[in-house]
Amino acid sequence: FAKQNGRNQYAFYFEDLKKDSKRLLLLEAELRKSIQTKEFNINYQPKISIVNREIIGVEALVRWENNKLGNVSPSEFIPFAEDTGLIIPLSEVILEKVCLDIMEWRSKGIQHLSVSVNIASLHFQQDDFIERINAILMQYNCSPSQFELELTERTVMKDAQGIVNKLIKLKNMGFKISIDDFGTGYSSLSYINRFPLNYLKIDSSFVQQITSLKDKQAIVDSIIMMAHRLHLKVVAEGVETKDQVKLLKEMDCDIIQGYYYSRPIPSSELLDFIELWEILKQERNVL
Ligand code: C2E
Ligand code: MG
Ligand code: MG
Ligand code: MG
Repeated sequence: FAKQNGRNQYAFYFEDLKKDSKRLLLLEAELRKSIQTKEFNINYQPKISIVNREIIGVEALVRWENNKLGNVSPSEFIPFAEDTGLIIPLSEVILEKVCLDIMEWRSKGIQHLSVSVNIASLHFQQDDFIERINAILMQYNCSPSQFELELTERTVMKDAQGIVNKLIKLKNMGFKISIDDFGTGYSSLSYINRFPLNYLKIDSSFVQQITSLKDKQAIVDSIIMMAHRLHLKVVAEGVETKDQVKLLKEMDCDIIQGYYYSRPIPSSELLDFIELWEILKQERNVL
């Protein structure tokens, strides 16, 4: 491509490469610093039961605002942290922050709100994953039964037997297990069925097209049906419109997560949301 457009394109291309590698160097240096100073925040996004409209839990989503880089999206820095191995200390900082928030909620009367945390592949693969996560929870007096671990299809697709054993241990300790972004990893439900799972989260790329594309609707419909046969509860991710909620309800989906109900919000706002929701959920016309 660059060649076709002559010499100048090479120059631009080279400039771009330099810019990219500069950013990566800065990203790595700043990420290291921020892990040291624990300069991350956690936002929480409510998950709503479509059946009784209760808040069945929240998903913890990390936020990074850096003085040199500004707001960096987790879709950029999480994969980068995985490539550099920084995901291990970063994940521990995130877990600590979540535990601190749980302690804070407890002091304000919110006792059993279930929290899901995203677990990166490389983190999950560590031999001492279970011991380390347990140590952090114990340090903050948090119980595994309040936690749900979100693993992507990609994570459970390697080394099936090792993963089954790990998941059985975690489940016996009280953790709940979800498969995140289901539908994007080309695995099948029959493969997934060997794992002791609680929830299947259908990826937003499917959910957001159910009202416009008949084949996406058919896929989501059959995922929900098969998941129920396997005794899994189904969470729809990225739900933004009332029409999507209606359709998902018709398809017997269990849980809704998305901007339609709430964006991910800081811990301090979450308590207000919970209070407000107690009133809102009584309204008949609220879906
Ligand atoms: P994910 O786990 O699938 O999280 C869902 C993403 O969808 C979040 O993006 C969330 O803000 C976004 N989202 C929720 N509802 C809607 C909606 O209605 N519309 C749209 N367009 N988006 C919605 P976010 O926070 O940018 O995170 C992106 C990904 O980064 C996550 O995908 C997850 O894979 C990873 N990630 C985020 N936080 C953490 C973390 O603490 N640890 C690890 N290991 N990964 C994380
Ligand atoms: Mg997730
Ligand atoms: Mg997801
Ligand atoms: Mg996703």
